[in-house]
Amino acid sequence: MISKIDQNKRIVVCGAGGFIGGAILANMRRQGFRYLRGVDRKPMTHWYQRFPDVDNRVLDLKERAACFEALQGMDECYNLAADMGGMGFIEKNKALCMLSVLINTHLLEASRGLGVPRFFFASSACVYAGYKQRQTDIPGLKEEDAHPADPEDGYGWEKLFSERMCRHFREDFGIRTRVARFHNVYGPNGTFDGGREKAPAAICRKVIAAKLSGKQEIEIWGDGRQTRSFMYIDDCVQGTQAIMNSDILEPINLGSDEMVSINQLVDIVEDIAGIKLKRSYDLSAPKGVRGRSSDNGMIKQRLSWAPSIRLRDGMEKTYAWIHDQMVAGDSKDSVVNIS
Ligand code: NAD
Repeated sequence: MISKIDQNKRIVVCGAGGFIGGAILANMRRQGFRYLRGVDRKPMTHWYQRFPDVDNRVLDLKERAACFEALQGMDECYNLAADMGGMGFIEKNKALCMLSVLINTHLLEASRGLGVPRFFFASSACVYAGYKQRQTDIPGLKEEDAHPADPEDGYGWEKLFSERMCRHFREDFGIRTRVARFHNVYGPNGTFDGGREKAPAAICRKVIAAKLSGKQEIEIWGDGRQTRSFMYIDDCVQGTQAIMNSDILEPINLGSDEMVSINQLVDIVEDIAGIKLKRSYDLSAPKGVRGRSSDNGMIKQRLSWAPSIRLRDGMEKTYAWIHDQMVAGDSKDSVVNIS
């Protein structure tokens, strides 16, 4: 069951300068919410989306006092703040990824201390057990596939621990915590260079660079046969708000079940760009698990809804946005990696 939207609720989005946090705030503005706060560690000039009618604050949420300042007077907290990136980032920054535990822990503590009744945590498909993802052609991951635990080292362990912490803050302190396991999210207004970008944005950037330079080549990480599913940002925003306003207590998948190989993703982007590139494969690059997709049985059953935007449609919008940024010579994340 999903409760009705109350535009008078005071909502803070943590990680508001990032890709998903910015998109959630943008949607809430469209829905007419009156009291919105956005918090991020980055200087405001580097936020992907920033709105003058939102109470924007630059705070480092690893600090306990900053979390209390961020949540003061709020009815709901969406925690989208984390040190994260694609495989290239998380495989090489395990300690940094695990330190995001400080953000979620202090935010939960602040919710408890200040009496903020509802709390959303953005978890990840990286919590799923590695031994369930060793083949390319595997069934979608079900929520129970996170145990016995064998998550992605570093980043996935932090998510699994923080999920559990949300559960115990709900059971012991009565905070209505909600947790979604995002599967690869893509779309405009996100990272496409600088080392933290994920496959859809990286492939768009490489194809656009090849097109602009006339160098008809592309380098692909791994053998290109590894499989994934990718969720367009609009589905992510809609699903996140629906899960927050639902009575779903346990972590739930929020992802697409349209599984493709990385080679098929490159086919789509080449088709959008109207070119064909010579592919080379870097087998030593970080590649993550062999196969991964989302089983959407639970979300369909609980919300009568699931992400449905087709990959080709979402990639067209993403490609167009990245193309505009590259032509304008604009890149936010190449200068933003503060830690
Ligand atoms: P993002 O990097 O674009 O946004 C995260 C934001 O958090 C950044 O703007 C960063 O500056 C901010 N942040 C980091 N540390 C902070 C701190 N100490 N204090 C304040 N702000 C801080 O990432 P995103 O793609 O928007 O991801 C949002 C959330 O969703 C993250 O928790 C991420 O782990 C999770 N998630 C994302 C995906 C995906 O495909 N994008 C997949 C699974 C899970």
